[in-house]
Amino acid sequence: MPEELFWADQIARRVVKERGDKKLYTVAAGITPSGTIHIGNFREMITVDLIRRALESMGRKVKFIYSWDEYERFRKVPANVPKKEMLEKFIGFPITEVPDTFGCHSNYAEHMEHEVSDALPKVGIRPEFLHQSVMYRGCKYAEEIRHCLLASEKIREVLNKFRKKEDPLPETWHPLHIFCEGCKKDEAWVTAYDGKYTVNYECTCGHNGKVNFKEKGIVKLPWRVDWPMRWHYEKVDCEGGGKDHNAPGGSIDTGQEILKAVYSEQPPVSFMYDFVISKSGGKMAKSTGNLVRLVDVLEVYLPEVVRFFFAGTKPMKEFSIPMDAEVFKAYEDFYQTERIYFGKTDDQRKAHWSRVYFMSCPDGPPKSMPIQPAFKHCAELINIYREPAEAIKHVKEKLSKGDAERYLLLLACAKNWIEKYAPEEYRFELNEKVPSVELSDKQRLVLRELGSKLDGAKTEEDVVELFTTISRKHDLDTKSFFKGAYQVLISRENGPRLAPFIMAIGKEKVAKLFGQIRN
Ligand SMILES: [Zn+2]
Repeated sequence: MPEELFWADQIARRVVKERGDKKLYTVAAGITPSGTIHIGNFREMITVDLIRRALESMGRKVKFIYSWDEYERFRKVPANVPKKEMLEKFIGFPITEVPDTFGCHSNYAEHMEHEVSDALPKVGIRPEFLHQSVMYRGCKYAEEIRHCLLASEKIREVLNKFRKKEDPLPETWHPLHIFCEGCKKDEAWVTAYDGKYTVNYECTCGHNGKVNFKEKGIVKLPWRVDWPMRWHYEKVDCEGGGKDHNAPGGSIDTGQEILKAVYSEQPPVSFMYDFVISKSGGKMAKSTGNLVRLVDVLEVYLPEVVRFFFAGTKPMKEFSIPMDAEVFKAYEDFYQTERIYFGKTDDQRKAHWSRVYFMSCPDGPPKSMPIQPAFKHCAELINIYREPAEAIKHVKEKLSKGDAERYLLLLACAKNWIEKYAPEEYRFELNEKVPSVELSDKQRLVLRELGSKLDGAKTEEDVVELFTTISRKHDLDTKSFFKGAYQVLISRENGPRLAPFIMAIGKEKVAKLFGQIRN
């Protein structure tokens, strides 16, 4: 039985089939930067990037546009920003006119945008960014706005069809938001339209105004109209949406109908993606402050592993990205896929996992299989040597340039993990001196003798052999032996597997420490 086609390849084929043979395909994504853009929001970016790659694999030319929908009203102050009371005053302003209370960017929207966009090249994602504040303020959509205002009735009919619980929009309604010239807020409504480019408006603040939107970019289409307008304007062939947008009567439903009614065009190929859930369960939300960002994930995972989480899971399936001890398994899963790609191991779904691996590498797979250091081992090295540059000097394998690069990156990830996320049992500090611990006479004897003989041990097996023979000689049980060794080394009753651990620390250092044990 042939294997099922990789999910992004399936969507890419749908795009070519439904949109026909085109010289250029446009795939799109976007977000309102109303707060921290978290790893669940990142799912849309990478999903579209994977579809772009799938289309390119078919020999198609693709443009990937990412829109910052920042000319939206600032609705709510999120839980995780500084100076919340100050920000309250800016509710209703365009997000680009809200100050950045983190103090590092020229406004709030820019701060939220850069937090994610600065990290995107690391994972091989380089869309063309569109700033809706620039587009609207620059009056780029004047013709489209006019077209939509003239189609007010059609748009109202579509929207009213889905307004089950709310009152229908009145006949006087126009699809237009105005940032009032009196108070700067999106609290105004159209009172008259001249059929060309001028609207009269009235605001809750009492201001009455008149604006020619070909000359002054203070108006915008409401989101449900803005989206299909841009599908038309940018000639979008594929754009998906999260679960919320895909709900019945959601902005995808209304957007598709408005596009047909107002522009007589077929909607772009759509797809749905599910949430990335937090480890404790539940979707990530700005209101809870329970957010993991792309930059946080990149502190613990190599870029190819970050991509692997998303490529290896169908968009419609929710998953979580572990930051605790499950990080070991996550790395192993990735390594397994890497081995399948390089033919080092077999798998029933070899073609599938090879494709997933191909898609996971930010800039294409390496020519030969890279080194695969266990993350647990990297964490141990960091516990011993603290700094990646120091730890890498104690790696036993001979490393090529590429391997050394991966190893160093992994050690840097392990360092972040130890410092920020590792459960207590995975953190320890190597003692420089023998700590004040209670040891039995037998334990002292055995550990001192082990110290004096370590130099003669060439391999891990030799070290294990020493454990056995010396313990037996002094009639010390295994449990007490290990407990005593860990107490002297790291002031704990257990720790990483002892023989490799001693080799990683360096026999000389351990010998010196054990040699200092007094009677
Ligand atoms: Zn006003």
